[in-house]
Amino acid sequence: WKNAPATLRDMVANGRNFPTREFLVYEDDRVTFEAFHRAVAALAAQLAADGVGKGDRVAVIMRNLPEWPVAFFAAISLGAIVTPLNAWWTGPELHYGLVDSGSKVAIVDSERLERIIGHLADCPDLTAVYAARNPEACEHPRVRCLEDVIGAPRTWADLPDRPLPTTPIAPDDDATIFYTSGTTGKPKGALGTHRTMATNVMTSGAALARPFLRRGEAPPAPDPNAPQKVTLLVVPMFHVTGCSATLGPALNNGGKLVLMRKWDALEGMKLIERERVTTTGGVPTIAWQLIEHPERPNFDLSSIEGISYGGAPSAPELVRRIKEVWPTASAGNGWGMTETSATFTSNGSDDYVNRPDSCGPAPAVGEMKIMTVDAPFRDLPPGEVGELWCKGPMVVKGYWNKPEATAQTFVDGWVRTGDLARIDEEGFCFIIDRAKDMLIRGGENIYCIEVENVLYDHPAVMDAALIGIPHKILGEEPAAVVTLKPGAQATEQELRAFVADRLAAFKVPVRVAFWHETLPRNANGKIMKSALKDVFAGDAAA
Ligand code: ATP
Ligand code: MG
Repeated sequence: WKNAPATLRDMVANGRNFPTREFLVYEDDRVTFEAFHRAVAALAAQLAADGVGKGDRVAVIMRNLPEWPVAFFAAISLGAIVTPLNAWWTGPELHYGLVDSGSKVAIVDSERLERIIGHLADCPDLTAVYAARNPEACEHPRVRCLEDVIGAPRTWADLPDRPLPTTPIAPDDDATIFYTSGTTGKPKGALGTHRTMATNVMTSGAALARPFLRRGEAPPAPDPNAPQKVTLLVVPMFHVTGCSATLGPALNNGGKLVLMRKWDALEGMKLIERERVTTTGGVPTIAWQLIEHPERPNFDLSSIEGISYGGAPSAPELVRRIKEVWPTASAGNGWGMTETSATFTSNGSDDYVNRPDSCGPAPAVGEMKIMTVDAPFRDLPPGEVGELWCKGPMVVKGYWNKPEATAQTFVDGWVRTGDLARIDEEGFCFIIDRAKDMLIRGGENIYCIEVENVLYDHPAVMDAALIGIPHKILGEEPAAVVTLKPGAQATEQELRAFVADRLAAFKVPVRVAFWHETLPRNANGKIMKSALKDVFAGDAAA
């Protein structure tokens, strides 16, 4: 693609085409593209002085602060490999990430510094730690103040101008290690290149702008005179989806990102109104929480042009509800994984309204196919359920330090996704479930998502998860944990009857438990079913 930047460093340079435009807004901080470029150059110079060079790992461990993308691009500009670690991880988990990646420098915020400070002595490769927004912590002998290096947030307004490093970087050089969510096991570091991430930013932006982009067709060149898009970013930057959304504005048309300290629907609505936000989303829960919020009618949310999400199953009803609240806005549902550098398929506009349970077709520069779950692997015809395999320039090279897992998952240029799916005659993909998130009740397969979607169709249900409870003879039986919408009521019997009217008897949950808060989710919006296991602990013994 002609419009594609050759490397991620080119994105920072591209931002300079809009020097006075605001790029990042966070509480009282407003950072222009020019200030951003200067902060990146200042930190890159310091990292170079610390000896960071090509291929070295630099860990970024922060909440969504403006310093997150500064740190990301500073390391990227030197040809280093950025290793964003999950800010929700505990001290020992962060220690695992630092040691597994062999990071030479860590750039952290105060909360994360507190968590890792006791582990620093056990990180043999770590030579420097920079802490953002924490002058006291900088008195620690091994920790330096990020603010002293970049001069911000004291003042973003007049940072000195400096050039970005000129280390030669090729598009296929290693650029990122993103850890998977760890839903099915210990998180694995996915090793991406400048090309994999840049391709993702191009394809996901393009798919939402023009769902009918034909195979191989390039998206339209960014129009510098188009009105500025404003994104309310509510998903973490340390996950590929949030990172891709952060990189997008620099690449596309000089868009603005509004950051939040912590997602909260009421705060989110205040910001949408104040900053005239045009796009938001990330994970389906965010959209639901905005739609269902009792205070929503008191806010002017008319600036919203699009809401898109992915990363977890979304109820087919969601697109209808978005259209009711924002009739002219576009809704988009995407599927992707850390290994595909975020969104791979996207379903938008009328396609999504017509197929609310599909995550869309393959991107313009990617391919997908359905294969038998077990070896010997064979292609399955349209309509049949099997494991989804994906291919394209956004697929990462493999897992960092894990040759066996790499050999199992990356086969002949394809990535095996571990998801069960089918693809229809027109190429639309339907995710059925994770291969590992299926229950087998006395030999009958039950796909959790199918039952969860029926529960979501019940007007009182806000959130639903199907889990297996052990059964002596059948192996396991389905049981549901649901959260009701504020003020709504439904009984266990009523919900079981609702499912029984719509699905085969063996799929009907034998128990329904009510959960009084939102269901426990990990940082990427996925329900942590392992945390729900004990809900029916008493039943299992019966
Ligand atoms: P791990 O690989 O460590 O077990 P993970 O697979 O949850 O964790 P991610 O890479 O963050 O880590 O998530 C990718 C997975 O998220 C996909 O394989 C799929 O199961 C799920 N997913 C993503 N988008 C969707 C979607 N639109 N619908 C259903 N599931 C989705
Ligand atoms: Mg996975």
